Amino acid sequence: MTMVKALTDAALAERIFTAVADASSDAPGVSRESYGAGETRALEIIAEIAAENGLTCETDAYGNLWMRLPEDSRREPPVVIGSHLDSVPHGGNFDGLAGVVAAMMVLIRTRPYYDDAPPLRALALRGEESAWYGKAYIGSLALLGKLPPNALDLHHRNGTGTLGEAMSHIGIDTHAIRAGHAVLEPKDISAYLELHIEQGPVMVARNWPITVVTGIRGNVRHNTVHCIGEAGHSGAVPRWLRKDAVLAMAELLSRMDEHWRVLLQMGMDLVMTSGICTTATDSHAVSVIPGDIRFSLEIRSQDAATMERFYDLIRQECRAIETSRGVSFAFDQRIDTAPATMDTGWITRLEAAAHRLSLPLESIPSGAGHDAAVFANAGIPSAMVFVRNDHGSHNPFEAMEIADFLKGVDLLAEAVHVPG
Ligand SMILES: [Zn+2]
Repeated sequence: MTMVKALTDAALAERIFTAVADASSDAPGVSRESYGAGETRALEIIAEIAAENGLTCETDAYGNLWMRLPEDSRREPPVVIGSHLDSVPHGGNFDGLAGVVAAMMVLIRTRPYYDDAPPLRALALRGEESAWYGKAYIGSLALLGKLPPNALDLHHRNGTGTLGEAMSHIGIDTHAIRAGHAVLEPKDISAYLELHIEQGPVMVARNWPITVVTGIRGNVRHNTVHCIGEAGHSGAVPRWLRKDAVLAMAELLSRMDEHWRVLLQMGMDLVMTSGICTTATDSHAVSVIPGDIRFSLEIRSQDAATMERFYDLIRQECRAIETSRGVSFAFDQRIDTAPATMDTGWITRLEAAAHRLSLPLESIPSGAGHDAAVFANAGIPSAMVFVRNDHGSHNPFEAMEIADFLKGVDLLAEAVHVPG
């Protein structure tokens, strides 16, 4: 009996993953543009297969797809299980889609005993990826009436049109979004649960098929820090008279790397990245001491205080290096994204469910952002389950085993059914 059921679940999951991948194939990988054709096609396929499996589908005013059991007419705030259907350009098939498929399968799975569980909804969100319009969580923010109005004026990555135009094109009322009209208030749902592939390498390295997420890292970013020194002849200026901007930046990053190492040893959650760095292309040369350099800075942590502490250290070290090397650092606008804490009640509930199912369940922070952060920061109890995935994410080589995925579905179904 168990064997037959497992095969049926695996076959259904495979069928949905393959159908959506085929419909959004864009070699290498898949492209499901936020509020574009690939995402729309994915929503249609999900709705078709949901209907075949007896689920009732409804599209909200902002284009997100909601699924529920038709026999469940209870009116109290439901537990919503969801994720997003868009992808980055030439991305992997499982980022986002896995969570939507899991949500559908939990609904189908709990059907025989639905009234023993809280009311459930499966949600397929649009517009989570920032890759298309430079803004993440568009769908979930709009849903809660929290999308900043100027986000609608953001231009597509190809410079072709705005987000607002793309939304209008598929029938979304952008005036309502601009006015901050919410599709739902935080009190309208009792919890938000999301299954997602892990986008880092930890679970593969540790051999963990599924984990529960402790929190979602926030970040502090500067798109551009400008370090200004003095250009000069590379052969003629002695070391003590140089104001080398590249060495100043290198020293800053090296000092921060050491602070990072120490903070990790103290048990803090932190990552730091300087992903863009360039000297002035119109004037740099092998024989010129670099007079200026521009670089990006990003720090992420689950803990706002840790980020603040590290940020203060960055600014302190900049001042010290300005004095010792005769350079100056100019920071552009600081951009903050708050970390999100996952709900301890739901984490306990998931751990208890894993125990009952004899599934080992470690916990892990999420380094990447997810819609769950938007729901959590709106005050909705939120939790996430990660599924092991090889080769990272945001690339065509994402590799999730269906057997691991089904463990995640089992865990969610057990946790919603039986309180911990
Ligand atoms: Zn995602």
